[in-house]
Amino acid sequence: MNVLVINCGSSSLKFQVIDSVSEKCLAKGLCERIGIEGSMISYTPDGGEKEKKEIPMPDHTKAISLVLEALTNEKTGVIKDLSEIGAVGHRIVHGGEKFANSTLINDEVLEAIKECNDLAPLHNPANLIGINACRELMPNTPMVAVFDTAFHQSIPAKAYMYGLPVSLYEKYKIRRYGFHGTSHSYVSHRCAELMGKNYDDVKMIVCHLGNGASVSAIKGGKCVDTSMGLTPLEGLIMGTRSGDIDPAIIEFLAHKENLSIDEVMTILNKKSGVLGLSNGVSSDFRDIEDGYRAGDKYMTLAMEAFCYRVAKYVGAYVASLNGVDAIAFTAGIGENAPIVRSLVCEYLGYLGVELNEENNNKRGLDIEISKPGCKTKVFVIPTNEELAIARETVSLVK
Ligand code: AMP
Repeated sequence: MNVLVINCGSSSLKFQVIDSVSEKCLAKGLCERIGIEGSMISYTPDGGEKEKKEIPMPDHTKAISLVLEALTNEKTGVIKDLSEIGAVGHRIVHGGEKFANSTLINDEVLEAIKECNDLAPLHNPANLIGINACRELMPNTPMVAVFDTAFHQSIPAKAYMYGLPVSLYEKYKIRRYGFHGTSHSYVSHRCAELMGKNYDDVKMIVCHLGNGASVSAIKGGKCVDTSMGLTPLEGLIMGTRSGDIDPAIIEFLAHKENLSIDEVMTILNKKSGVLGLSNGVSSDFRDIEDGYRAGDKYMTLAMEAFCYRVAKYVGAYVASLNGVDAIAFTAGIGENAPIVRSLVCEYLGYLGVELNEENNNKRGLDIEISKPGCKTKVFVIPTNEELAIARETVSLVK
């Protein structure tokens, strides 16, 4: 079956068509600036040239109709007609406490997703727009919602509750939810597979280090803790997000700089993280790495603080798991920055971790980067959220 995977943002839409049998990506692309002047669509069929063109997209329905046109184009399309798309898998950011698993989409599910809008006001409404646009154009094609939060719903209350009045949880559902769940699930399953072990029998820590970054702890076949919280702002130092801070800093900053809460939140979400620590120079880890190697003071600080925070979370999760069998690195930085893996692993001597530098410098492979015989194994496992969404979609549609 061919599965169309849709990841819809407020003004963008990423798509892939995946053949569920060969698990190959047949085509992928991106619509940008939807509803804004200068809308662009890019489209790449497997093995073909990337096409990019500017074309008006006043709304998401238009964007999806252009995606379907590209996929069925006589010359560069990968399917003859829409009946060759057996199902659509939608990435949904927040499923609240309602969704611990992916689900087939119907009117009731759409209502339940809408009820989670408060928890992800920037993302969920955009995800819903994507679903509605697809339903309009493919009314008879089954659709599945795959939630970023679902994998973390197994986290126990002692780990998901904040030390706040419990009435706030009961009233507003303020708690840890966690994100990147599809990636943590995909990578941890692959990690157990690479170790030749049963998923339920391995204690794992997954470090998803991208522009957004999070760590999760998996034991007994379940996620038991993760670093992102009610929102993706908590936890690691990220590209532009602060990660953990003393919450009193918010009030302190608002007073000192005469800022509104919204303005302080913009600093924490958009101007902090490695961008902030590098003194505003870059949120891109390639630049941080270059600056670190050149001995730049702020870039060195950004690199060291980023890696230290990752190591600190790994340590916390080793405690919560009472030991760990494997640590896996994934996402843009986790997959592509050997220096980050080295610096993080320097803190992990107490786990018996020693890196195999040759393997640590390889790219694009599922690979063990710890030396043979290490008590705790370390892996690099490129994440593939689209494939994970396609697999979930097929399992529900079949
Ligand atoms: P993601 O959010 O997973 O797409 O990851 C984006 C992050 O990965 C950005 O900070 C990029 O700078 C970083 N990244 C991508 N390629 C490399 C690379 N070759 N070396 C270091 N960082 C990289």
